[in-house]
Parts: sequence; C-alpha cells; structure tokens
Amino acid sequence: MTKNKNHRSLKTDLGLILRGYRVLYEVCPQNIIWTTVNCIAQQFAPYFTLYLSAEIINQLTTGASLRTLLTLALVTVTGQLLLNVALHLLARKTEETESINFDLNELYMLKVGCRMQYKHLESPDTALLRQKIRNFSNFGGHGLSRLFWCYQELFGAIANIIFSVSLTMSLFRTVSNVRLTGFPAFVNHPLSALVLLALIGLNIAAEMISIYRLYPKHTRLWSSFNLRFSRCLKYSEYNADVTVLGAVGLCIERCRRTLLDYNNECMRESFKISAKLSFIGKTMETITNLVLYLYIGAKAYIGTFGVGNFFLYTGSVDRFLKAVSDFGSSISNFRQNNDYLMEVFRYLDLPDDMYRGTLSVEKREDNKFEIEFRNVSFRYPGSESFALKNVSFKFRIGERLAFVGMNGSGKTTFVKLLCRLYDPTEGHILLKGIDISKYNYDEYIKLFSVVFQDYFTFAFSLGENVSAKQDYDAEKVWSCLNKVGVWDKFSKTERGLETPLGTGYQNDGVEISGGEAQRIALARALYKDAPYIILDEPTAALDPIAEAEVYSKFNEIVENKTAIYISHRLSSCRLADKILVFHDGEIVQQGNHDQLVTDTAGKYYELWNAQAQYYT
Ligand code: ADP
Repeated sequence: MTKNKNHRSLKTDLGLILRGYRVLYEVCPQNIIWTTVNCIAQQFAPYFTLYLSAEIINQLTTGASLRTLLTLALVTVTGQLLLNVALHLLARKTEETESINFDLNELYMLKVGCRMQYKHLESPDTALLRQKIRNFSNFGGHGLSRLFWCYQELFGAIANIIFSVSLTMSLFRTVSNVRLTGFPAFVNHPLSALVLLALIGLNIAAEMISIYRLYPKHTRLWSSFNLRFSRCLKYSEYNADVTVLGAVGLCIERCRRTLLDYNNECMRESFKISAKLSFIGKTMETITNLVLYLYIGAKAYIGTFGVGNFFLYTGSVDRFLKAVSDFGSSISNFRQNNDYLMEVFRYLDLPDDMYRGTLSVEKREDNKFEIEFRNVSFRYPGSESFALKNVSFKFRIGERLAFVGMNGSGKTTFVKLLCRLYDPTEGHILLKGIDISKYNYDEYIKLFSVVFQDYFTFAFSLGENVSAKQDYDAEKVWSCLNKVGVWDKFSKTERGLETPLGTGYQNDGVEISGGEAQRIALARALYKDAPYIILDEPTAALDPIAEAEVYSKFNEIVENKTAIYISHRLSSCRLADKILVFHDGEIVQQGNHDQLVTDTAGKYYELWNAQAQYYT
C-alpha cells in the first residue's frame, strides 16, 4: 500500500464512496432499494411505540376519558402489529434480493471476460491485484460488499437521528409561562437550546476528528499481511513439491512469522489508537448525556411538559446519542474500507483501450479468409526486446502448417497476434488486404479455434466442456468426440454428455486422464468449427507416441481448414504441408520436411538432428 493513502482528503474519500454506490446501484438496484426501505422502517418502529406510549401516559396524568385512553391503546397495539407484519415482509423481500456477493463477482468476471485488454489479463500485477481483492472480499468482507453494510449502518444512523430529532423538537420549543429566576430561568430561555445544540455539535465534531486524525494504519497493513498469510497457507494445502521436499515445516514457520509481524506492526498500534478513540468518544457521550438529562429534568421540574413527554424525550435522546455514535462508527468504517475500494477501482479501471473495429467479416462457406502478416514486429508491454521481428507470411487456405523452433523463439506470440490478443508494434496483419484491427473483433475471433498450451477443462459436464455453452448441439458434440477418439469412453456411460468432468464442481464427477483432457480440448476446437484451427503444444504432456497419434488424428480431422500445429517435437511436424522455423523472433526457414532437412546449414537441420536420436 502506498504512503499517500495516509493523506487521502475528505473529498477523495467522499468521491470513492459515491462511486462505490453508483457501482452497487448499477449492479444490484433492487437490493439497494429494499435494504434502504428496510433500514428506515427498522428505525421508525421504536419511535412509533415510544411516541404513543408517552401520549398514553400524558393522557393518563391529565385525566383523559377512558374512551380516549382505549382509542390510543388500540391505535398503539394495532399500529405495532401492522408494523411487525411490514417489517417481516420487508425482511423477506430484502433476503430475496441478497445476492450482492454473487452480483459483485459477476462484475469482476465480466471485467475479465470482455472489458480488459489481454495484456492486463496476462500481467502478473493484475493477477496479484485480483487475488488481493478476492482475499479481502472473502476473508475480511472489505471492498464493495463492505460498502453495502457501511451504507446500511449510515442510513440507519441518519434515519435514527431524523426520527429522534423530530420527536425532541418540542422539548426546545415549549417554555413555561411562570416567572422564573436563576438556573430554571436559563433552562426556560430559548438560548439554552442553542447551548445544547452546540454541545451536540461538539460531540459529533470530536467523533469525526478522532476518526480522521487517529485513523489506525492497521487496515492498510492488514491487506498485505492477509495476502502473505493466505499464500503460505496455500503452499501447505496441497502441493506435491511441499510433500516431497518435506517443506511443511517451512510453510508453518512462515505463517507463524507473518502472524507475529502482523501483531507487532499492526495490532499494537491499532489497540493504542482504538483505546484513545474510544476514550474520547465515550467521555464526550457521557458529558452530553448528562447535560441533556439535566436539561430535560429541569424543564419537567418547572412544569413545561408532563410525565409522558419526559419518557419520550429521554428515550429519544438515548437513541439520538446512540445514533450519533453509530454515525461516527459508520464514517470510520467507510474510511477504512476506502483503502480497499481504491484497489477495487484500480482493478475495474484497468483500461480497455483495444480498438474493436466495426467492419463486418464476410460470411463464407469456403473458408477463404486470407490472412497475411506484413513486416510484423512485436514487443511485449514493458519489454525491451522484440518477441517478433519483421515477420512476413501469407496463409494459404487449407494448408497444414507446423511451427517449430526453440523455446522463446516467438511461435506463441505469432498466434497471439493472429488472434489479436495483442496488436503489432510495427507492421500489419491483414485479412483480405484490410488491417485486422478494422474488423469487428467478435466476428474476427470467430475465425479461430485455438487449443493453447495451458488449456483447461471446466469441472462442468462433458457437453458443456466441448461446446463451451449451456445449450449445445448434442449430435455435433458426439461427432467431435468421435473424431478425437474419446467417444467410446463416454458413450457407454449412463450420463453421457451430462457426465461432469472431475469433482471440482460436482462430487460425482468423473476423473479423466491428461490424454483424455487433451482430446476433449481438441474436440472443443472442432466444435467451434472455425476456418483456422491452431494447436499450440497442447500435447506437451504426452509421450512422443501419443503425440504422434494426436497429430495424425489432427491432420485427418481438420478437413478443409487452415491448420497450425506448434510442437517442439519435430517428428510430429514432419507431415505438415509447410514448416515455419522460428528463431529469435524471426521466421528463418520455411518449406516441407524433405526440403528443410536437406539444408544442412539451416536451423531446421540442427533442430532435427538434435532430436532425431530420440525417434530412430
Ligand atoms: P515460443 O512460443 O516460441 O516458446 P513465445 O512466443 O512464447 O515463444 O515467446 C517469445 C518471446 O517473448 C520470449 O522471449 C518470451 O520470453 C517473450 N514473452 C512471451 N510472453 C511474454 C509476456 N507476456 N510478456 C513479456 N515477454 C513475453
């Protein structure tokens, strides 16, 4: 956390809170509305009873008729019953809309899915920020969801203040007509009300100043400790390395040290400050309470109002002072929570400055989407060196291509640029002669089915895994599974396409092997049925024979699509129509295996010879 957060101004704090509300209101308006109504009603109920009870006592002491008394009692009881019913209904309505955590998670998910540039998505800083937000939301309930609770606390306090002030207004207005002297005369004078109001104002000001001046740094530090602590815990949860290395002791020791640091650095300071805060607050409250009671007592003594009103005023004043304290505590909570809100907004504000284009991609059955890389160079954000250097290449429709080259030679980067996950630093990528950035991105990305190195399977059903949709074409899914060779395994099972993969989401899921997962990922690429199909080393975990099998299958099933196969195993690429050899960000050679292997001075020959010993 940065130092300048210590000096955040009131204006910045208010700005953060207001923005938080706008977001909350956009995400779950129903929830906000019903909770607000509920808050007001909850605060109103006790004043209703207090007012009518005071009125009954007043009537009793002034000798009202039985009829008046009974009417008042009836109104009180009926009103109370109706209020109880209303509160119950409101509570149910509020519960119904209580999906705030889900709604907020959806907001974060949508940010990842559609409103964040890939460069941010891929950056370790973003991953850390996301984890931080998840940690403080889930464990400490901070951030946007805490704002929701602070808001209820604040709203409750304000409603309470309004109701109590409305009921006590007459306390200051009513004066005795009897001629008085000394202290009773002062109490009877309107100026005394001003003195009281000044004291109450002072009480609120003291609360605010203590919150702003003595604000503990504890919450600022808490977030970073929490992150460190949860990481240590995670290491020891399940990790083959930790088990084999016997590193559990190290993890436990690190957790303990983190807690110790936390106690030393945060808690002590925090305790000192909160003790000071609470002393100031309580002292002010006691003084104000005492003066107010003295005032009410004195006014009752000089006969300004009856016994009933005495209870009404003291009851209201009690609630008022409690509300002032709640108001202060809600402001304090807001302020503490703002540290977390800043992180949430830093995440939500990650820019999406990718131009998504407007030009429509022509629909065609023959898959003739000609793409060309023209003098493309690319440097990752923040990187000094070029990952691709002056690459020019024109795809021929229906061609089976293999990309080979050492690790870090630029193969994956080429694919990322092709899919427009990044835009070139220099040069152009053209579709039918027009820069791909001009095309509507949603339509453009439909041209590609990609199985990345780090593909994953969802712990959802097999059908959903293949189609990436809830409503899928079962026949098409089966056909894709058949093509990749996992039809047998699932066609015989009772649940078929409904079979959950793994137990991560449903307990009765089916575990699948690495090879099966790879085939399912391949089936997914087939289901999308895009004109370009790309496999970026998804077979890295397979042995060479299994990979050769996947590759020969791939070659067979891609039909008339343009296909790119990336592998560090050259034997798998032998059958490609064309092999592109990447080296240090450049395409240094291209041709089929027989052509390339005869160039004994070329990179391909070198790579091939280095691996040949494994395959002969
Ligand atoms: P290959 O797929 O051939 O193994 P890559 O295309 O993944 O190679 O990487 C090409 C170069 O770009 C490497 O030097 C790699 O370190 C760098 N690189 C890859 N991804 C990133 C990234 N997200 N940020 C910065 N540099 C990257």
